[in-house]
Amino acid sequence: MSHHAIRWEFDRDEVNGYAVCTAPLDSDCRLVGGGTCGCEDWIVQRDEDGPFHTVPGPPPARHPMVDGGECQVVAHLNAGDPAELALGQQVFTIGTTPIEPHWEPGGYTWTRARARVDA
Ligand SMILES: [Zn+2]
Ligand SMILES: [Zn+2]
Repeated sequence: MSHHAIRWEFDRDEVNGYAVCTAPLDSDCRLVGGGTCGCEDWIVQRDEDGPFHTVPGPPPARHPMVDGGECQVVAHLNAGDPAELALGQQVFTIGTTPIEPHWEPGGYTWTRARARVDA
């Protein structure tokens, strides 16, 4: 199960993706290095004193981690374009939208239908 997703929104001329997070408020994805930590990469560890990461030594240093106020995954992905930040060539169906076709002289147009698509 993933706590992160891209929500795709159709707006006639474009489809936009937005990262969303459903993780609980105490999740690792909200953590950032506290104090003077300037690390860009870490493995979150937890003990009775709270979340931290270890910087290899010698001697190894303990960097406490604090809640960054928001999901860092969402913050980073939505600061850019989530579609462009997809790694590699990923081909998948975003969704299937039931439509109401409308005949107009010259061809069909459509509006979104509220009903399910019949199999
Ligand atoms: Zn650090
Ligand atoms: Zn998150």
